[in-house]
Amino acid sequence: MRTEPSDGGGGDGEMAAVRKAAEAGGAARAAAPAARFDLPEVDDFTRPYWAAAAEGRLLLRRCRAAGCGAVHHYPREFCPSCWSEDVGWEPATGRATLYTWSVVHRNDLPPFGGRVPYVAAVVDLAEGPRMMTEVTDCPEARLRIGMPLTLHFRTERPAAAGPDGGGPGPAPDGGFAIPVFRPAG
Ligand SMILES: [Zn+2]
Repeated sequence: MRTEPSDGGGGDGEMAAVRKAAEAGGAARAAAPAARFDLPEVDDFTRPYWAAAAEGRLLLRRCRAAGCGAVHHYPREFCPSCWSEDVGWEPATGRATLYTWSVVHRNDLPPFGGRVPYVAAVVDLAEGPRMMTEVTDCPEARLRIGMPLTLHFRTERPAAAGPDGGGPGPAPDGGFAIPVFRPAG
């Protein structure tokens, strides 16, 4: 049985190595822009979606195959109902109802830690699909299953964007517009 810390067996050396690694990591983080986990990586397929969002429109995907017509979200290149690849974009009305939610009080992934508490939610869009999103501008005590919600957009500007734009996002300032919801009316 050991009753006090032992410094045998190279423990101090290990601790020094851990400290050094932590310091090196801190220096690397200070030099590079902070990693963000809230921004999309846009590709050729999703570019129209993010470009429309930057203009204040939420796009859904509707199947154009005869006898189907299903609407889906998140966007896929094929229809998840009938597997047709004849699918096009169309704007959503922006109306939804609250299906379920969770109030997040802790999230260590940047930049979510600066937003807590926030309401992570799943909403039923008026067009049918369910969408993962966030409910804003609503005290927790007012949240109700089925409450009517309306779309709005939160703009996020990556640190990489310069003062005149040049960021990876489709908005004029190089940022992104993220679809979120708030109580309707
Ligand atoms: Zn279909």
